Amino acid sequence: MKIARLSDLAEKSACPRLVVKVGSSLLVGKDGVRRQWLEGLVTEIAAARARGQEVIVVSSGAIALGAARLGLDKGGRGSLADAQAAAAVGQIALSGLWAELLGAHGLTAAQLLLTLEDLEDRRRYLNATATLTRLLDAGAVPVINENDSVATQEIRFGDNDRLAARVAQAAGASAVLLLSDVDGLFDRNPSEPGATRLGEVRGVTAEIHAMATGGSSSGMGSGGMTSKLQAAEIAERAGIALAIASGLHDAPIARACQQGIGTLFLPRRKDAGRKAWLGGRLRLKGALVIDAGAAKALGKGSSLLAAGIVRVEGEFQRGDAVAVQDERGTTLAHGLAEYDALECARLMGRQSAEHAAILGYAPRSAVVHRDQMVVL
Ligand code: GLU
Repeated sequence: MKIARLSDLAEKSACPRLVVKVGSSLLVGKDGVRRQWLEGLVTEIAAARARGQEVIVVSSGAIALGAARLGLDKGGRGSLADAQAAAAVGQIALSGLWAELLGAHGLTAAQLLLTLEDLEDRRRYLNATATLTRLLDAGAVPVINENDSVATQEIRFGDNDRLAARVAQAAGASAVLLLSDVDGLFDRNPSEPGATRLGEVRGVTAEIHAMATGGSSSGMGSGGMTSKLQAAEIAERAGIALAIASGLHDAPIARACQQGIGTLFLPRRKDAGRKAWLGGRLRLKGALVIDAGAAKALGKGSSLLAAGIVRVEGEFQRGDAVAVQDERGTTLAHGLAEYDALECARLMGRQSAEHAAILGYAPRSAVVHRDQMVVL
């Protein structure tokens, strides 16, 4: 059974494995942890487990909580050093809390702190998959956050929305529920008169992106609608449904699922395994800029040949993940390069018959082979 409506997120048959992401502003109020609210959410998680669903929690709030405890201003987001110190203090309290509250329902919490590289590197991604699978098989509830205290600026997710989508891919989840402080995606800024919530989105188009209005409104998390839409894009290509719903109410999962208050992004296709990982990659080592003819061929499922490349950007090695872009800078595909950046630059614009002479060794059949490429 596939997910077609919000209520399916609470059905074991349609959604055997669910990722629930909890935003900072829900977990931490001005007086510290919103314990009573969290107890309610954990009761809902226990109910999902009792229905036979497996649940993975992605919990924000470490920075906000740690900042409150350390008395840091700007919610601990004034500098990277503040955020890292705040996260170290907040995370230990946060994981203790999840373990305690899940434990009260007889559930075992398992903490995983991930960095971007843990999911961008193929081997480490598979390792995370194995750990998550084993934990779920053993009946635990993984509680995941970014390892904010060690992740430096360049290699941070920075928001838990995309982390949740990547975790869902790694875990083979059916759906992601992003609990936030908004009811879903609105067709314009929700504070404007006449703003209407979209119940369902089929494909995150440019028009949908235009509806997102900037960063986090609470100022506590770092997400906002932009990162939620990026998360939806990662999910929709991997065959994973993603919902945005408000957690500001009691029993937020039931409110979203039973009353249908939220926005459901339907999966568009099902890239499995390696292709899902590749399509969801957030950092690429470089870019191959291609002409219109090559772009057309790509759309038809062909491999990328050197003749269609007009520019090579970045420093990458053979086997690295690169973006394939058109001349306006739009990313058309992600793929694994068959050559390093220097070789690509030497081959670009040249017909395949010339390659052996240019390289001095037997050339490969393409610069990016179709089997190692995901058209976005
Ligand atoms: N990892 C951050 C934290 O625990 C939250 C990131 C986000 O706001 O999405 O505070």
